Order: sequence, then structure tokens, then C-alpha cells
Amino acid sequence: YSRITLRERPRAAVDPKLDGSGTFSLEREVPMPRDDEVQDGEAVVKVEWVSIDPAMRGWLNPTRSYVPPVAIGAPMRAAGVGRIVRLAKGEKAAGKFQVGDWVVGTLDWNEYSKVPVKELQKIQIDKDISPTYYLGALGMTGQTAYWGLHDVGKIKSGETVVVSGAAGAVGSLACQLAKLHGCRVVAIAGGPDKCRWLRDEVGIETVLDYKDKDFKNKFREIGYIDVVFDNVGGSMLDMCLARLKKGARVALCGAISAYNDPSPEGLKMYLNLISQRAKIEGFIVFDYADRYHIAAEEIARHIRAGKLQLRETHLHGLDQCVNGLVGLFEGANTGKMLVKIGDD
Ligand code: NDP
Repeated sequence: YSRITLRERPRAAVDPKLDGSGTFSLEREVPMPRDDEVQDGEAVVKVEWVSIDPAMRGWLNPTRSYVPPVAIGAPMRAAGVGRIVRLAKGEKAAGKFQVGDWVVGTLDWNEYSKVPVKELQKIQIDKDISPTYYLGALGMTGQTAYWGLHDVGKIKSGETVVVSGAAGAVGSLACQLAKLHGCRVVAIAGGPDKCRWLRDEVGIETVLDYKDKDFKNKFREIGYIDVVFDNVGGSMLDMCLARLKKGARVALCGAISAYNDPSPEGLKMYLNLISQRAKIEGFIVFDYADRYHIAAEEIARHIRAGKLQLRETHLHGLDQCVNGLVGLFEGANTGKMLVKIGDD
């Protein structure tokens, strides 16, 4: 089978070439694990879909973070969904998992992954719930939007919530969950197509295109802000800080404008945090693991009630994973970026 491993750490943007000169290597003809290599506690999973996340760029840096960096030569870490094709003997007897089960877990950029079953979670699929949702709304994406809004942003009905990166996976859910909570949402995204989708299909009333030459003026017209859900960082965050209301909360979810840039543009407006007695707080979704069920139940209820627009951008084939990652930094996705591995 094939897999993608880390070849060298990029200094700025990822180099997508897979010919042995880029950031990653495509390894073909990796032997399938033999039966005696699948130990008790392990399963072999055929990977069906992998998630492409901006955070992956950070996992390539040899710096202190919330997870260790991916090692040189190791398969690229990625969340995935797939089906169990083989189980160790003891696992078969225990009967918790069966061959054919759909599961979600850290499956990496692999066509097949050998993983400890304790790191897998069985997933339920039905007419309303696609397996890909477990990498998006029913996975880390949904959890991030939910806890960033409720626990960090402490949103209240009627408040003005600004979401940057609003047409992306986390951003588009954050907009919708805030709206369903009764907030006035201001969505910021790049380009007319994404803005049209947010306005006409997602139903967000105030949508601003940051690539529009009039953006700064239009941004000032929205008035003052109670909650910022920031996915972008840099000058976009700075603009939001300039417009904080007294007691505002700024949830620092991500800073995609800074991930490829070792010396990002500095913030100028942070003194407004003082004058407006506002709070700025970073968060990592993993810290909510013991409460994931709360968000998952609420989001699943909204999905079944047809209240969420869950858009996905699909690429096809393992060799497209790297292009998917590079594409996130070029705005190539609307909604969740995913790669289908193997045949459809
Ligand atoms: P997205 O689907 O939002 O994908 C990236 C999008 O970001 C692009 O489509 C593009 O949209 C936008 N973008 C890229 N570069 C820039 C730039 N320089 N300036 C402005 N916008 C840019 O990814 P996710 O939804 O998966 O992640 C969103 C954010 O949330 C990321 O920062 C990520 O790191 C963070 N995150 C944080 C977590 C946590 O626990 N704190 C967990 C998960 C994600 P456009 O065309 O509009 O520019």
C-alpha cells in the first residue's frame, strides 16, 4: 500500500512536490502487516477519508506545542475514518469491534493503518450522517466551534459575534451555531463565491469579503463587537481588537495567516483589551474531551433537524493530501477539506 511520510521540515510554506525534493515523500509498495505483526489490542484499518487541517502545518515545526512534532520519516499524522479489515485474535474474541466496522481515529496519510483499538472510536452512519461528518461537524471541527463559542467566547443571545475564516470548516460551523444561539453574526471570508454561499445558503445576514477593496469601511459599519472567534490572526485580529465592546471576549482559535510566516505582522491594537476590560483567551479543543458528548449530541440534533449546511471540499487519492494542505493556505476549500483515499 502507499503512505506519505515527512521528508524535511519546511521553513515557510510546504513544498508539495512528491518526487523526493519536497516536504513529504510518497512511499509506494509498503508491505501490509503480516498476521503475526498485528498484536493483541491492534486492528488494521482501510482508510477511506482523511482530514486536512491547518494545524498540520504546525505539527511540522520542531517547536514546543500541544502535541509533539511529526518525526522525520514518520507517516504524516492525520485524523481519518475507515473500516476495520483485520483484528488481532484477542480482539476478535473480545467482540467490541468487528471486521467491517466504521471507525474514526488518528489514521495518518496512509491507505492502511495498524492502530491500537483503544485509540479508535466506532461510528454510526445512517441516511442523515455521512462518515465524513466525523472529521467535520461531528469531529474536532464541530467541537472546536462549539467550545470556542460557548466556553471561551461565552456567547449570549443578541450579542454581536465576528467570525474570521468564516467559510472554512470551523468558521462556517461557528457562524451557524452562534446564529442558532440567537447571536448577530458577522462572517468574514475571502472572495465573492464564499461570501455568496454564506449569505444565500448558510443564511448569515452580514458577510464581509476581506479581499474587497472596501472591506475596511464596511467592517467599521458593523459597529462594536461582543465576541471575536478568530481563525486568522495577524492584521485581521488587530482590526477586530480595534472594535471591541466593553467586556468583550476574544476566542483565539487559530491564526492561519501566521502559520507559514516565521515573523508574522505584529498586533497594534492590543491596548484596547485594557481600555475595554476585554478578555483574550487561546484554547485547544482537546481540553474538552470529557465534554465532547455534549457538543456532539447538540450538533447531531441540528444535523437531523436539517439546520446546518455542512459543505465539504473533496480531493481524490492519497497523493492529493499535500495539495490539500497547501490549498488551505490559498483558500482552496469551502467548508471542510477532505481527501478520499482509494476507490469511491
Ligand atoms: P479552514 O477550513 O478554515 O481552512 C483554511 C481557510 O483559511 C482557507 O480556506 C482560507 O479561506 C483561510 N485563509 C487561509 N490563509 C488565510 C490568510 N492569510 N488570511 C485570511 N484567511 C486565510 O480550516 P479549519 O476550519 O480546519 O481551521 C480554522 C482555524 O481553526 C485554523 O486557524 C486552525 O488552526 C484552527 N483550529 C484550532 C483548533 C483549536 O483547538 N484551537 C482546532 C481546529 C482548528 P479564505 O478563502 O476565506 O481566505
